[in-house]
Amino acid sequence: MASIPERLSIVSGALTALFFVFIPFELRARHKRGTLTRDSVREMFASASPLIPTLLLGAVTVSFVTGLFLAASRLAITRVPTTALTTVTCLLLCDLLYYVDHRAGHRLRVYWAVSHSVHHSSPQYDQSTALRVSFVDGFLSPWFQVPAVLVGFDPLLVAGCFGVVIAYQQWIHTETIGSLGWLDRVFMTPSNHRVHHSSQPEHLDKNYGGILVIWDRMFGTYARETGAVTYGLTRPIESINPIEVHVAELRRLVADLRRPATLLDKCKLLFLGPEFVPQSWTDAHARRALTKAASESDATSEAAARTT
Ligand SMILES: [Zn+2]
Ligand SMILES: [Zn+2]
Repeated sequence: MASIPERLSIVSGALTALFFVFIPFELRARHKRGTLTRDSVREMFASASPLIPTLLLGAVTVSFVTGLFLAASRLAITRVPTTALTTVTCLLLCDLLYYVDHRAGHRLRVYWAVSHSVHHSSPQYDQSTALRVSFVDGFLSPWFQVPAVLVGFDPLLVAGCFGVVIAYQQWIHTETIGSLGWLDRVFMTPSNHRVHHSSQPEHLDKNYGGILVIWDRMFGTYARETGAVTYGLTRPIESINPIEVHVAELRRLVADLRRPATLLDKCKLLFLGPEFVPQSWTDAHARRALTKAASESDATSEAAARTT
């Protein structure tokens, strides 16, 4: 009989395979709306393109996670036996840790730029968006699960539960499912996750949960879907080039770090949210705008004087 971690990996596989169940419905819905265009299909391929480095580096990523979790297990404060009850507890803990991970992915610009922004840069929302995950994520995200190993859960169980939390999110990347009533208040659902992918100001930094949306309701980051959603980044990347998909936000961060700024401001650029702009830049921008307005005003006065 399969062990609990083995059964969890079967569940993860089944959840991931939902891609093949949903994609025909999505294509049909898009066809009916008249939005199944050459460009939309290209965007879907751009979203699937991060699978290439992820699959090529699969063995390296698995070795890294195994090493990390085994090293952490040597520091564990106790050993928790793997039973049905502790599996549910571990899954809840992994889901909470995923919430923290996901929130960090949005609120630490360096994490956002090197990894999580990739998932958000598509102006479309469908099953292919779930595949749009940077390979870098495989080396950053597992660190946030280490506390579950440190409190004594079997590293294999933690890996299995983390896999379920990630794989669960495949099915929620769809527009073919509307509101699900009370389920929207408990679980991360298509409706809740559409809000998360929105670039509208009222939706930014909302609905970070993996399986449960309860964490967002507890920590004040929950927002309900109230109408049509505009997807993507607030500054679109406007490219389907697979390399650009991976590096667009990193390029923007590097460009910002090269601009004149104090050391403290450069640290803030790395570790505060993506919206942070050093005061000196806004001051310089205001000075330039004032100078431009003054010179335009002078030119207007001069022209008026000449015509009188
Ligand atoms: Zn996100
Ligand atoms: Zn997503």
